[in-house]
Amino acid sequence: MPVSGLPPYDDQNVFARILRGEIPSKRVYEDEWAIAFHDIAPQAPVHVLVIPRGRYVSMADFTARASAAEIAGFFRAVGEVARILGLEAEGYRILSNMGPAAGQEVPHLHVHIFAGRPLGPMLARA
Ligand code: 5GP
Repeated sequence: MPVSGLPPYDDQNVFARILRGEIPSKRVYEDEWAIAFHDIAPQAPVHVLVIPRGRYVSMADFTARASAAEIAGFFRAVGEVARILGLEAEGYRILSNMGPAAGQEVPHLHVHIFAGRPLGPMLARA
């Protein structure tokens, strides 16, 4: 069941297609719970996306419907990717857009990992 107020999951979204292997991606990590791959239009020298394998639109959807194991597995994967990419010393930013105000383009929950240069202010000034 979709969470109230959220659109139903769209099985044709681009990340669903990447998960099914219908669209290629440059994967940097995968496990039972999550996959990580390079963003097709990087906004920093390192720009990797981490997505849960499950069919979740957003953080609200994920935390309402996913099992504790899925939630733990996903967030562990985010940390694991940062470790694999060797980002701990220089630092990095994680960011996740939800819905129209944040400009979410792909309706499958994803966390961006940015690194490789000074990342500037947390938000652009309006
Ligand atoms: P959002 O705006 O939803 O937070 O971020 C979606 C991200 O997905 C964007 O940074 C965009 O460049 C990336 N993206 C969109 N289509 C593809 C694709 O086909 N492959 C990959 N690797 N990234 C994609």
